[in-house]
Amino acid sequence: MNSPILLWFRKDFRLADHPMLDAAVRSGRPIIPVFILDEVVETYGAAPKWRLGEALQEFRRQLERLGSRLILRRGKAKECLLTLTQETGAQDIWWGRTYDPNSITRDTEVKTALKAAGYNARSFRGHLLFEPWVVETKQGGFFKVYSPFWRAVKDRNIPFPRPTPEKLAASTNWPQSEDIANWALGSAMNRGAQVIAQHAVVGEAAALQRLNTFLDGPIKAYKERRDFLAEPATSRLSENLAWGEISPRTIWHAGMRARHKGAPGAECFLKELVWREFAYHLAYHSPQITTRNWREEWDSFPWSEEDDEDVLRWKQGRTGIPLVDAAMRELYLTGYMHNRSRMIVGSFLTKHMMKHWRIGQKWFEDCLIDWDPASNAMGWQWMAGSGPDAAPYFRIFNPETQAKKFDPDRAYITRFVSELSPDPGSEASSFYEFCPRSWHLTPNLPYPDPIVDLSEGRLRALAAYQARRDQK
Ligand code: FAD
Repeated sequence: MNSPILLWFRKDFRLADHPMLDAAVRSGRPIIPVFILDEVVETYGAAPKWRLGEALQEFRRQLERLGSRLILRRGKAKECLLTLTQETGAQDIWWGRTYDPNSITRDTEVKTALKAAGYNARSFRGHLLFEPWVVETKQGGFFKVYSPFWRAVKDRNIPFPRPTPEKLAASTNWPQSEDIANWALGSAMNRGAQVIAQHAVVGEAAALQRLNTFLDGPIKAYKERRDFLAEPATSRLSENLAWGEISPRTIWHAGMRARHKGAPGAECFLKELVWREFAYHLAYHSPQITTRNWREEWDSFPWSEEDDEDVLRWKQGRTGIPLVDAAMRELYLTGYMHNRSRMIVGSFLTKHMMKHWRIGQKWFEDCLIDWDPASNAMGWQWMAGSGPDAAPYFRIFNPETQAKKFDPDRAYITRFVSELSPDPGSEASSFYEFCPRSWHLTPNLPYPDPIVDLSEGRLRALAAYQARRDQK
């Protein structure tokens, strides 16, 4: 029993509160940490791939400080793991579960192949607070509505986070590792990586620092201020959760401690964290949410899937609607977009512009450094009206009213849209410097007229909605 254990890391680049790592350390056996640029990872969009590269480099440094290494391989997961078992003599291959449909398909194939070849394949929890199958309705099914899901989980006993190991037992027989530089994980980002790098907060220590900064201040007024677009009122932890640089349990218990100390916004924050759980609950039980209308009756809705000139203007932040443009440029320049902005640009695309939500889902997948397959799919279907527990289609955000309410002094708009700022700051100006050359945009272009009249667009969307209802 002294053969090494292969630990296959995927989206769990941390040492603390890591059930798989914890079990491996306790076994006392040598550990070989591995990351594979496999068939699922190859499909990631430009910004997630770049951000993954940053996470890997930081995680490798962390492992090295504990006397270990991170072995990198590229190829089909199943084949790489089988090769590694032969090279190292490992009999045990462990990993932390992820629950999006592509990962589940890959992991099922890997598990079957490893078991058929006589190896011990074992998976661990850690990505979520609650495994998707442990939360059930009274009738025994899965939840389709958030509020009862929250009520079902809010008082559950969640174990405290596990400590960080002080040392990892090194292998005496390290296999070769590929060089991350040869993977060029940022190549699809072109000039964008340079600008987003200023906003990314990478690694476990930085994630913890981010949590502490949030607990020291913004959590108190989180409930009242979290929708104000220019304020640092939310935690920004989605980026670190997406790559597993902090565990949801660590955040949950920090939120609970804040609640016990009387922080007024803590309960609201915990509820938001549970939206992420709900997204995975839905993706696990109804995987079609990531690719098709969750409600089939929306299949006949006349959304256009054409990636045309108007879609390009939406992506470029040149729709002529200031709040939408600020949000789209925030996305491009920082790899992040405020939650309310995500809802506003989603409503604008699927309602005023009558474009399919999949177009937006795909663009976010390419641009977000906190890209998460379950939250992104749920967010888009929620916004479009085709998902479970969705915002009703007839609730159409008016970006002008939203701007008056949540960006009253236009700080957000002027931060990102140089044409609308009397004295553009470096962020707004850098958009033209860093956007793709193929867009042929220059800072001296006049700010465009709206691509759609807000009242006409709204009425057109409502008419289409009514027509779909009449068809039933
Ligand atoms: P906070 O307000 O500090 O919330 C704390 C945590 O709760 C977040 O980090 C996140 O993990 C979770 N959370 C908060 N709101 C939501 C929500 N609505 N759905 C699911 N989890 C939530 N989130 C992603 O992490 N990745 C995505 O790819 C993603 N795509 C989205 C697409 C659309 C169209 C919409 C409407 C929302 C999407 N969200 C996504 C959810 C949400 O916008 C982000 O989680 C949030 O903006 C992250 O900022 P924060 O960490 O400061 O959140």
